[in-house]
Amino acid sequence: MARYPVFPGAKIGRLIVVKEVARIWSGGKRYRAYMCNCDCGTAGFITRGASLARGMTLSCGCLQREQVRAYGTKHGHAARLRSSASYNALRNAMQRCLNSDNKYFEN
Ligand SMILES: [Zn+2]
Repeated sequence: MARYPVFPGAKIGRLIVVKEVARIWSGGKRYRAYMCNCDCGTAGFITRGASLARGMTLSCGCLQREQVRAYGTKHGHAARLRSSASYNALRNAMQRCLNSDNKYFEN
């Protein structure tokens, strides 16, 4: 199984780890969480450290979306960028609300 070192500045798939953030509670357990920027332009994507370390999370989700879409479309690049941009804007807005740490993070 792949093991990726997770530290600020680490490049894991399309993600670049920015910093560790407040831990995520899920199913009664506490997980280390990291803020990452994605190659597709998504900033402030929060994911579990364990998922990053195992190579289970390699993108903000754009990789999976593109793989699904690739079955139907070969060269839908412009359409893909447009739709993911609006999706990312929404996601970022949501994460800014959920994660007060984000206000300290500027590009
Ligand atoms: Zn992405």
